[in-house]
Amino acid sequence: MKSSRLKIEIEGFVQGVGFRPFVYRIAKSLNLNGFIKNTKGGVLIEVEGEEKKLREFLKKLKNEKPPLASYHFFNFYFLDKIGYKDFKILKSDEKGEIKTLILPDIATCKDCIREIFDKNDRRYLYPFTNCTNCGPRFSIIEKLPYDRKNTTMKVFKMCKKCEEEYKNPLNRRFHAEPIACKVCGPDVYLYDENKNLISNGFEAIKKTKELIKKGLIVALKGIGGYQLLCDALNDEAVKRLRERKKREEKPFALMFPSLKILKEYVYVDKISEIILTSPSSPILLLKKKENKKVSEYVAPLNPYLGCMLPYSPLHHILMKELNIPVVCTSGNISDEPITYIDEEAFEKLKGIADYFLIHTREIKRYVDDSVVRVILNKEYIIRRARGYAPTPIIFKENLPKILAVGGHLKNTIAISKGKKIFISQHIGDLEKEESYKGFLKIIEDFKKIFEFEPEFIAHDAHPEYLSTKYAKESGKKLIPVYHHHAHIVSCMVDNEIEDEVLGISWDGTGWGKDGKIWGGEFLICDYKNFERIGKFREFKLLGGDKAIKEPRRSAIGVLYEIFGEKAFELDLEPIKSLNENEKEIFKKMLIKNINTFWTSSSGRIFDAVSSIIGIKQKISYEGQAAMMLEWISDEKNSEFYNFEIKEKDGILIFDWEEMFVKIIEDLKKGVKKQIIASKFHNTLVNLMWEFANKVKIKNIFLSGGVFQNKILLEKSYKKLSKKFNVYIHQRIPPNDNGISLGQIIIAARNI
Ligand code: ZN
Ligand code: ZN
Ligand code: FE
Repeated sequence: MKSSRLKIEIEGFVQGVGFRPFVYRIAKSLNLNGFIKNTKGGVLIEVEGEEKKLREFLKKLKNEKPPLASYHFFNFYFLDKIGYKDFKILKSDEKGEIKTLILPDIATCKDCIREIFDKNDRRYLYPFTNCTNCGPRFSIIEKLPYDRKNTTMKVFKMCKKCEEEYKNPLNRRFHAEPIACKVCGPDVYLYDENKNLISNGFEAIKKTKELIKKGLIVALKGIGGYQLLCDALNDEAVKRLRERKKREEKPFALMFPSLKILKEYVYVDKISEIILTSPSSPILLLKKKENKKVSEYVAPLNPYLGCMLPYSPLHHILMKELNIPVVCTSGNISDEPITYIDEEAFEKLKGIADYFLIHTREIKRYVDDSVVRVILNKEYIIRRARGYAPTPIIFKENLPKILAVGGHLKNTIAISKGKKIFISQHIGDLEKEESYKGFLKIIEDFKKIFEFEPEFIAHDAHPEYLSTKYAKESGKKLIPVYHHHAHIVSCMVDNEIEDEVLGISWDGTGWGKDGKIWGGEFLICDYKNFERIGKFREFKLLGGDKAIKEPRRSAIGVLYEIFGEKAFELDLEPIKSLNENEKEIFKKMLIKNINTFWTSSSGRIFDAVSSIIGIKQKISYEGQAAMMLEWISDEKNSEFYNFEIKEKDGILIFDWEEMFVKIIEDLKKGVKKQIIASKFHNTLVNLMWEFANKVKIKNIFLSGGVFQNKILLEKSYKKLSKKFNVYIHQRIPPNDNGISLGQIIIAARNI
């Protein structure tokens, strides 16, 4: 049998994921000699033996790799034998080694869960158990390379037993940097709101369970920040949390003790189960069941619940004790960034939390829980943070050094390094001072951990965004990028397609080339340029930002466009909601163009419909009115309204006038809101279809916040796919969380 030597180079997530022990094991099992060592970008492997066995080795490398490992580059070739005597894990060259990839924080693996509930294991009930397949990563790294001394675990000196595991290539904890145990690792402590220590260790967890069961609110230091917990079955407790957090109706996320209990409350299909138990372990939106319910205050008026399963040992141990669903929401005041520093937590969450369950492993940066939903039977990310960030998007070519500062709401930043684009975790809405501070911190943080200094800054073309102002003060070379171009390019890069495409970017807002607020856009674009070929008919928005909070302002703007001053005499909910004074003010604003803004926003058209049919006149969280339209819609309904596509100055315009007139007629006839909402959704699907047929471009990309709408997205995808290639987001959210990715690529093409 012929024997030879096989040399393999791999780049990707192959460090700190248990890769070397894995290779060691398969080499040994096949009786192959050689070595593996970590290199600058990945690993280098050489093995010698019978060719048949070498082929088998290759196959195993590809098919049996550890759960967290992934390959971005894989190259191999056969050479002559050298005569290795054994298989060895060689020391990597410390100086040359730059581990540029940082893993996201990973939910506790099955082996670790088994250990923490095994009475005979030395990590029984130890809340900081982890291994190379699981545990904190991004949230504890101070700098690269990813070694224990460069994480917040550096203050804990490994005990003898942990050190043995850490150094043994055959152990699951070989080079598990955050390795710890009861003897040497962090511990958990329970304090009251005045910072008096109550208890520690498992006692503290047991006591926490009692407090939650009594209806109290506990702040828990998790993986990426503090969370607020209370009994989700207790109306009083949930109501109290709403009052204290100043959060009226925005849904709270829930944590369930087990998949089994979760299934009692919501519908869980196969794909949902996979997502819930994945290493990312996000919050997943699932439909409520009728027979078994959590408190109505958890997600008022909402058919969905944001659900997650325990993802750290501390969560596992506490939830097993509790055995009931709990509210598990970010530890912050309304929409500020999540608190992650102990001192700040005691200060900021005072008055919200009754008790604090904290621990001594420092969190280096805040990372919120991610939010996803299932669309077209696939994971669709709404908020990208824990479990996903900062996994890079790999571009097909090297990029200049660009920092993209994102948009305004749901901000993220991104940097380009070689072919990799690192997108930050969800930062927040930059209108809050605290979020802006977070934004500045995360930019500095990314510069430091990725050893990055930008040459260019890509920013939104909006002159007033704080992110734009930051860019202008940086002294770097600037590249402004239009909001909706960034949305579509973000979706194109997400799908790895470069071509001339039709982009449908539907959103709440976005600065346009004419200085108006765009948001119902049809663009022909590539990575460099775009041309606006279509839009929603415009209307006057009453008082810019205020209109976002009051859907009736969009409705009145639309009605004024159609009916002029007579709009104010209509017998419709938005008009009836005005007092005489407001009526006069709004009328004056519209007639004299005071503090009104022309917009083609599709998000605001959702608001207008929602208001006119009497769903919401004022909202208590972003997007609420539009979401409520989706929730009441019946996906099986196929009726629609007629509309016209007009042409003016070479631009196609969706004229919604007839649709609104018919909606008002339907209302008068007593047609149910559910039917009107469904017809509205179907009308928009038809609109996309008509547009696509007029434009005749094969590849269509759907992006923007409106495409978080499951009914709209699924229906339009199905219809458009009959004739076109339709692309939706894969790894990056369609909303403004994804803007920074598009900004990087557009900037790179325009340098
Ligand atoms: Zn593990
Ligand atoms: Zn130890
Ligand atoms: Fe947007």
